Amino acid sequence: ESFDKMGLQENLLRGIYAYGFEKPSAIQQRGIVPFCKGLDVIQQAQSGTGKTATFCSGVLQQLDYGLVQCQALVLGPTRELAQQIEKVMRALGDYLGVKVHACVGGTSVREDQRILSSGVHVVVGTPGRVFDMLRRQSLLPDYIKMFVLDEADEMLSRGFKDQIYDIFQLLPSKIQVGVFSATMPPEALEITRKFMNKPVRILV
Ligand code: AMP
Repeated sequence: ESFDKMGLQENLLRGIYAYGFEKPSAIQQRGIVPFCKGLDVIQQAQSGTGKTATFCSGVLQQLDYGLVQCQALVLGPTRELAQQIEKVMRALGDYLGVKVHACVGGTSVREDQRILSSGVHVVVGTPGRVFDMLRRQSLLPDYIKMFVLDEADEMLSRGFKDQIYDIFQLLPSKIQVGVFSATMPPEALEITRKFMNKPVRILV
């Protein structure tokens, strides 16, 4: 039970330890390695279990840093959560030189467009603004290879189902999907059935 034994890049490990984590939590022990292998994963876990660092590590491990194009898209239900994920992604990926941007409602569309056109590796956001950026072609889906839905149950209960489906339609078909959710209501199961390929299920 050590981050050292997960096969993570040296500069990702440095970021994890610099952030203050010493040992992986239960979900990190079980979830990071399958995610890093490119598998689709469903992780049923409450917030507070360390799920953010689980998918951030999986994303950061697999990015091609020489390609400054959006390769990972993370969705969350609220602006605050998306901005929190952005911070964790940036901190853990500090030594890797990751470029992350949060696309959330209530901020300047122009500013989002400016930052996206300057080049990022990862976009974290709420479904509405992310769909808007895709629709305007300010966010290009071509290089996206990882898609994470955080607090999927919460996004569905806030009425984001249609937008999540719309976003899936715009992404490349061969894409790694991670679903994190405290509960698995029927609408969440439907997403896993429709859009995931032989997902690994982890219950913490
Ligand atoms: P999360 O479930 O991702 O919202 O994380 C809950 C809290 O646990 C956050 O404050 C994290 O910074 C902290 N945390 C997550 N993983 C670890 C770890 N391996 N060691 C210490 N703290 C952690």
